[in-house]
Amino acid sequence: MKCPKCGTENMEVFSVRKVAVERCSSCGGIWFDARELSQLLDQDARHVASLRRGSVNVQLEGKKGFCPRDGAELLRVYSSIDHSVILDACAECRGIWLDGGEFEKLFTAPQS
Ligand SMILES: [Zn+2]
Ligand SMILES: [Zn+2]
Repeated sequence: MKCPKCGTENMEVFSVRKVAVERCSSCGGIWFDARELSQLLDQDARHVASLRRGSVNVQLEGKKGFCPRDGAELLRVYSSIDHSVILDACAECRGIWLDGGEFEKLFTAPQS
């Protein structure tokens, strides 16, 4: 799989609580297939520690990406959890790309 933001073909697959996610070892962004993100945001902090690393790369954050699964252009949408976070979402497969550090922001956002 190719990173939708920086183009690196070096995505690292790892699983968290039986959910397999893919992270770019170059820019730190993470790909979640449909529903995986919400599943993981519900987990205890100790289970998702590995997803909380990374920091936002401003240059890549604002860049348009393409879905690594089907090549559709990713839509930039404000997260309903934290409006300072802009997700890159695929309208085709419902996958979501989070840039480095964005999982952390969503995870620590106050629950409403
Ligand atoms: Zn990358
Ligand atoms: Zn897609």
